[in-house]
Amino acid sequence: MSDQDPLAGAHLDTLAVRSGIHRTHEGEHAEPIFATSSYVFESAAEAAARFSGEQPGNVYSRYTNPTVRAFEQRLAALEGAEQAVATASGMAAILSTCMALLKAGDHVVCSRDVFGTSVNLFGKYMAKFGVDVTFVPLLDAAAWRAALRPETAMLFLETPSNPLCEVADLASMAQLAKEHQCLLVVDNCFCTPALQRPLALGADIVVHSATKYLDGQGRCVGGAVVGRAEQMNEVLTFLRTCGPTMSPFNAWVFLKGMETLRLRMEAHSAAALELAIWLQQQPEVERVYYAGLPDHPGHALAAQQQSAYGGVLSFLVKGGREQAWQFIDATRLMSLTANLGDAKTTIVHPATTTHGRLTPTQREQAGIRDGLIRIAVGLENVADLKADMQRGFAGIGRQ
Ligand SMILES: *Cc1c(COP(=O)(O)O)cnc(C)c1O
Repeated sequence: MSDQDPLAGAHLDTLAVRSGIHRTHEGEHAEPIFATSSYVFESAAEAAARFSGEQPGNVYSRYTNPTVRAFEQRLAALEGAEQAVATASGMAAILSTCMALLKAGDHVVCSRDVFGTSVNLFGKYMAKFGVDVTFVPLLDAAAWRAALRPETAMLFLETPSNPLCEVADLASMAQLAKEHQCLLVVDNCFCTPALQRPLALGADIVVHSATKYLDGQGRCVGGAVVGRAEQMNEVLTFLRTCGPTMSPFNAWVFLKGMETLRLRMEAHSAAALELAIWLQQQPEVERVYYAGLPDHPGHALAAQQQSAYGGVLSFLVKGGREQAWQFIDATRLMSLTANLGDAKTTIVHPATTTHGRLTPTQREQAGIRDGLIRIAVGLENVADLKADMQRGFAGIGRQ
């Protein structure tokens, strides 16, 4: 056998299945779960060397765990990154990034259109520790620029946005960050590296909620931070000290999830596109928001920086909250839950759930109207999803 690395230059599918594997002497084919909190040493001298860092190796699972390391290596390979750091959740990934790379007095410019809990993390907790945050509309380039201060250390965004699928130009945002010598952090949860690789477009750091598409079947909560070794080592040090690490069992579930990531993302995207086109033709629908539709303002950009348009779409039913609720309550197949990135299609009314804590004015500014319904398309047969939506439409106006 040649000693050439078979993964050098390998494609995403191959990396998703083959990277991060370290077989033990048992010769196991699938990745093992190292369900252990600590590790034993051969001698007192070895223990001392491991603790001092003189000898590499495992000490304790808050620091390192082989299953978690396999997950980190596989995700780093998919994102084309030097290093990934696994965390207990997506929120722990964002928190760890901030705690490791920001300090009191720093300023962050954050897209207004990010995951609601991310808004709270920045607005409530970072602010409490002296990190000032300015929220700006995702697509308002002038607002991003105007918000910059000498102490701005980080730009934070999510693209495509939830629930309206607005698409940010990652290359130009990376350019802005570079000009200002601050970090561009991108939450890549909706696309995953199967559809979009922000680091290749110039972003410094990618954060993930592995809970969503990396798992893909709604089983585990987890997250990750991905980027250059220089920053990832800081994130790792925070994690080792403060503890929001990923469990080995969850890491194993995500490892298995990643093996089918591209196939799933393509299936989610194809089904979402078919449903989006179909929804546009329904008389009860006022508007459909999906970047895969040629009339969506982000279509051209998404076609350029993503390899497909993802599984999340929204649509506006004619009327308002009452009609949207009637639609949702008349469906029988889709799961009524705010979660996404699952084989099971989910449906939610953003204005009264995920965006319910915003004031009516904030909701209006964000474009979250009362008739808006968000669907995260799963892996069921599209004909059955259409039939369920027909039930929804039939429920509108019925007493
Ligand atoms: C779910 C989600 C998060 C938070 O992830 P958890 O794993 O639930 O902590 C962050 N960003 C986006 C875009 C999400 O959808």
